[in-house]
Amino acid sequence: PTAANPHVILVTGGSGMVGRAIAHVLDHPESDLLKEGNDPGNSGGNKNPGAKNQGFRHGADPSLWARRPHEKWVFLSSRDGDLRNAEHVRGIFEKHKPTHVIHLAAMVGGLFRNMRCQADFYNDNSAINDNILRAAHQTGVKKVISCLSTCIFPDKTTYPIDETMIHNGPPHSSNFGYAYAKRMVDVSSRAYRDQYGCDFTTVIPTNVYGPHDNFDLEDSHVIPGLIHRMFLTIDDKRDFDVWGTGAPRRQFIHSHDLARLTISSLRHYQGAEPIILSVSEEDEFSIKEVATMVGKSMAFKGKFKFDTTKADGQFKKTAANTKLQEFMPGYKFIPLEEGIRESAHWFLKNYATKV
Ligand code: GDP
Repeated sequence: PTAANPHVILVTGGSGMVGRAIAHVLDHPESDLLKEGNDPGNSGGNKNPGAKNQGFRHGADPSLWARRPHEKWVFLSSRDGDLRNAEHVRGIFEKHKPTHVIHLAAMVGGLFRNMRCQADFYNDNSAINDNILRAAHQTGVKKVISCLSTCIFPDKTTYPIDETMIHNGPPHSSNFGYAYAKRMVDVSSRAYRDQYGCDFTTVIPTNVYGPHDNFDLEDSHVIPGLIHRMFLTIDDKRDFDVWGTGAPRRQFIHSHDLARLTISSLRHYQGAEPIILSVSEEDEFSIKEVATMVGKSMAFKGKFKFDTTKADGQFKKTAANTKLQEFMPGYKFIPLEEGIRESAHWFLKNYATKV
């Protein structure tokens, strides 16, 4: 961007977990989770004080995601309009005149909410995505990065799954509504590129967690759900129920890592095909291991039980991060145990007091 050609970057879903993480890393490009002195959720202290002297602490140059001069970032929230409504979306694009869009907004939820609301997940997300991409095309937006999810991957597949395989067979039945709506964002982005030359593309993060997550007891994803339920269990001195068998395996990405990689992708990723934003295949954990980490972070001394009357969802969706390693060689992710500890602190400081 230059003074003559400033960039206006519109972030849909700007008040959600990932949107807030983007706002955070733009203005704290050098920081990591353990050094954010002003953030009440980060009382962990800097466990790795020498990191700065060993090159870049994230293994990549922070100017890749730092805020730049002549950039205006606009973070949308639900107060700005209903993105399912085409008129509202047109109004938003006319008002802000974005040159770039990071499209995060979606109806989201954990496994159990997906299973309850297939039609809403499909319809609402399809409407939002169609409206955003159409408005971006009609108003000449230079680049759109839309956020997909590894739960769009085929259920019956070989592993690891890579970017070329996302349409190779139906998604898991537990979230087919969400998954098909998201798959169509890839189709639509490539179609706009094909017919009109639009630079629209997509990123595919694995399971995201972090500050400002949805900690709802029923509708959240596993990490915030476990943290919240464990907080209540500690009060009750009861055994702790992990839902399902504990055997499913997942790769997790902290929202700050996802934010850094998404901004870098907006600026430098050239492909039409999606790019998977994930830790490596070896950094996949079972839900039982995740529960143990949450237990440690909450000083939980009780026993775990596995409630096998509840669904497991997809057994695993192991994703390859080979393409990301080529795009950002040496990028260092926040280790899961550290990220979970900080998420639990964040919950205790910011949320637990309100319930
Ligand atoms: P998914 O990756 O789309 O399946 O998303 P989730 O984060 O909702 O679920 C991941 C796994 O965690 C599933 O196998 C669930 O059965 C299991 N799980 C265990 N306890 C919980 C919980 O308290 N909440 C949620 N959402 N999942 C849980």
